[in-house]
Parts: sequence; structure tokens; C-alpha cells
Amino acid sequence: MIETLKNTRNLPDSALQELLESTDAALAQELKDTAREVCLKVKGPEVLVRALIEWSNICRNDCLYCGIRRSRAGVPRYSLTPEQILECCDAAWRDGVPTFVLQGGENPAAAESLLPTVKEMRRRYPSAAITLSLGELPFDLYAAFKEAGANRYLLRHETANPEHYASLHPAGMRFSSRLSCIRELKRLGFETGMGMMVGSPGQTTEDLILDLRLMQEIGPDMIGIGPFIPQSGTPFENCPAGNAETTLRLLAIMRLMFPEANIPATTALATLLPGGKQAGIQAGANVIMNVYTPLKERKKYDLYKGKTDV
Ligand code: SAM
Repeated sequence: MIETLKNTRNLPDSALQELLESTDAALAQELKDTAREVCLKVKGPEVLVRALIEWSNICRNDCLYCGIRRSRAGVPRYSLTPEQILECCDAAWRDGVPTFVLQGGENPAAAESLLPTVKEMRRRYPSAAITLSLGELPFDLYAAFKEAGANRYLLRHETANPEHYASLHPAGMRFSSRLSCIRELKRLGFETGMGMMVGSPGQTTEDLILDLRLMQEIGPDMIGIGPFIPQSGTPFENCPAGNAETTLRLLAIMRLMFPEANIPATTALATLLPGGKQAGIQAGANVIMNVYTPLKERKKYDLYKGKTDV
């Protein structure tokens, strides 16, 4: 089986479905062990640490799953100042973490005001990786960020099924726009990240296989996946959370399909599953994200219930 698993990128949909749905615990373990083995061989034994700086929870969008959606009441909104962002970078750098991930709600006008901060981050830390995750922005703003010194961009595609996408997002947000942004980021030369929530309402195994096929077509450099976790005060507050085991199997499949990709064991996985970061690493992930957002603001980046903030 191991040799078949190592050839995961060529597996037919039926075999992927079996890997995702099988009740055979030995097969699931073999999948994760093989992914870990490939990870060690291709990426080495080091777990890479990223400094996550949650820049702002102000968002123009109203994604039905998200705790910082525009219309969710009772969320104290904040944006970090340039000085606060730079202090987070300084702290991360002192800790030996040379990869900064600046993430926030989608807010193009405010995002533009980050350009001088990104330039200063690049001036202070010429060798650092500067990753942005600021949603869908005008293409010339993506280009300006590249020019300012950012070199990576995370934009999860969320689901590769346009109808499923429409059921997770308000009218006006389109899968095709999301995809155009991802393609443009690649064209501009960003190391580009894709990904999706696992177990988002209405998602099927077929949808997950479509996600894998889309990523095979685009070739992301980074892949971020985590289980969907409901948040109170959102339309999906009573929906069940995604499944940690399915998330681990997908992490393993992605390591086998995309051996070179940087794949985090995400906070959402750790929120749902005690020891989830270690379990993710053991299933083929090679990155963890440590939160550097100032303590005072951390609780306000309240994407889902019980979010761990470390
Ligand atoms: N605004 C940026 C964007 O659109 O890419 C980045 C911020 S957004 C909050 C980051 C990611 O959080 C989303 O891509 C989504 O997958 C994830 N997320 C949001 N709500 C979630 C939930 N309830 N459970 C799990 N993940 C969630």
C-alpha cells in the first residue's frame, strides 16, 4: 500500500474517497505515517514556525461562517497601528522567527495604508519572509505589496465547488473572483497559499476531492486547512464542527500530493483536537503558526468558538 500512497497525486477519485472515508484504522495510520516519512525526506525534520500577526478584525465581507463577519454584533473592532505591527515583528525576530504573517479582515482601503509598514518590515528584516493574508484586493494593490517587499500571500479558496461557495458566502462574493485573485498572486510571483475549511456546512467528500484537483491544477506553495468550527452569532452557529480525523487524513494526502508545499498544523485543528498541532505534524504538516498579536487585541480576532490564542 505504501507505494500506492506515495503515488497519491495519480490516484483516481475513488481511491481518494476511500482514504478519506475508510473505517480501516490501519489504513488511516499508514496514510499518516507515509506522509510523515515523505515530509521528513523532502522537507527535513525541522518544524517551521511562523509569527501570526492578526492585524485587524474589521471586514467588509459577511461570510456566513466567520466570527469577524461584518454584521456580527458585539465584536469590538480593532486595527493594529504600524508601531504595534513592527513591535510584533521585532518580538518574533528576537524569538528566532523570521517569517511574519500579517492577516486580517478584508478591507482594501485600510489594507493600502499598510504599504509603508510592509516597506519598513522589509527594510528592517531584509531576509525575512513577509506573508500577507488580507483577502481579495485590487490587482494593482497586490502588485504594490509585492513591490513593497511582501513575498508570500495566503488566500484560501474555501471550496472548489462554486455552488458550495455560494452557500457559504453572501451574494456578491464569487468563487470566480477568488480564483482570479489566486491566479494573479501566482502571476505576480508571490509564493501563494490556498486551502479550505474541512467540514464546512454542506461540504461533501466529492467537494474535498474537487479541492484537491483544483490545487493540483494551480500548484500552491502553501496549503492551509483546518476544521470548520461554528461561532455564535453567525448563521452557522448551530452547525456541527468539522471532523479532526478527516482534517488529519487530508493533511496527509496533501503532503503526498504536494511534497514540497509548506503545510501548517493549524490553530483550528488544535482548537478542536487536544494535541492537534502534534497530530498534524505526525500526519505530514511541517509548519506551526504562533500568535504574536498583542494580548489586548487577541481575543477580538474571534473567528470561531474556543479559538486557542497561542
Ligand atoms: N480576510 C482574509 C481572507 O479572506 O482570506 C483572511 C482572514 S480570514 C478570517 C482567514 C480564514 O479563517 C478564512 O480563510 C477561513 O477559512 C478561516 N475561518 C473563518 N471562520 C472560520 C470558522 N468558523 N472555522 C474555521 N475557520 C474559519
